[in-house]
Amino acid sequence: QQDEDKSQEYLDELEFLAYTAGGEVLKRFVQKMEKPDSKTFIGSGKMEEVREFVEANDVGTAIFDDELSPAQQKNIERILKCKVVDRTYLILDIFAQRAQTSYARTQVELAQYEYLLPRLTGLWTHLERQRGGIGMRGPGETEIETDRRIVRDRISLLKKKIKKIDKQMEVQRGNRGALVRVALVGYTNVGKSTLMNVISKSEVFAENKLFATLDTTVRKVVIGNLPFLLSDTVGFIRKLPTQLVESFKSTLDEVREADLLLHVVDISHSSFEDHIASVNQILDEIKSADKPTLMVFNKIDAYEPETIDEDDLITEKTKAHFTLKEWKQTWMQRENVDAIFISALNKENLEEFRKTVYDAVRDIHVTRFPYNN
Ligand code: GDP
Repeated sequence: QQDEDKSQEYLDELEFLAYTAGGEVLKRFVQKMEKPDSKTFIGSGKMEEVREFVEANDVGTAIFDDELSPAQQKNIERILKCKVVDRTYLILDIFAQRAQTSYARTQVELAQYEYLLPRLTGLWTHLERQRGGIGMRGPGETEIETDRRIVRDRISLLKKKIKKIDKQMEVQRGNRGALVRVALVGYTNVGKSTLMNVISKSEVFAENKLFATLDTTVRKVVIGNLPFLLSDTVGFIRKLPTQLVESFKSTLDEVREADLLLHVVDISHSSFEDHIASVNQILDEIKSADKPTLMVFNKIDAYEPETIDEDDLITEKTKAHFTLKEWKQTWMQRENVDAIFISALNKENLEEFRKTVYDAVRDIHVTRFPYNN
């Protein structure tokens, strides 16, 4: 049952990704397997089920929640006779649609080419098999070789371009002086931009789609008499393609160089604990897991503890029934960090939030300038 819930949640998220990319999902298929089929990812019976559905409904694209190998992707396309994309492709597609600045566009383009390169190889092995692996000097091979060279050239050009911008950004960051730096981090769509807007009175783009924010926004915020810099950066997601983590390194530098992290969580989301774990994993990857952190549980207006069934034999309170106060105690103990519960949308509890941030920033400020205080 629990596995089933999990896979439905994963597919909910995939559907949300598809919707964000501009697609409409007609049907979901789930298969339980020990490990994915090396050739076609899913088993042949399930594949036939999918194929019939694709044919009957004139489906344009089949989306898989995991990363498919180039060969798997080719094989499945041949069976289903429709476009086959995986989770990584879908996320790259959304990033490409949403990249605003030339820096973000360059990063996404690089990630897309890196995704494409082994798939050109996949095309080649697929041709090889068709021809029985003999006499490979045909035009197909030359074409692919040329394509691969073009892609490789493009990749190294984009890398150079990014390196140059990275240097400029480093200088810019260096010029910001000694102000304390606070970074908003969190899963995508948890309300980081909304919170940024509320506390910095700015107009950062926020909407109910995944990855509204790709670029880093930095704002100077003053609470009390204390100025600090607040940055909002790309949202994290479960299984964020490695190409993207890699290419968004510099965007993530904002996180890496922050003095304090505000880890924003959407407590109204049924998988919020998974979200926290995913974010922590990425923070770990970019070596920022040990930074002073404040857990900010957002969307308390939408948080609904599941109603307890009176006849239920469960005497011990399940997690779903936790009150916000109990959550607070749990998190402060478990993560050994401060926790605060707010609604950025309804501006609930923002005073306590401001006060907590103020105290944390002040602590850092005092250690940095011990003689000025
Ligand atoms: P981001 O991707 O983390 O930057 O999230 P956004 O700030 O773009 O917000 C995602 C969605 O959540 C938007 O539709 C917001 O209006 C909504 N949202 C943000 N904060 C709250 C909140 O406190 N309560 C509720 N119910 N919705 C919120």
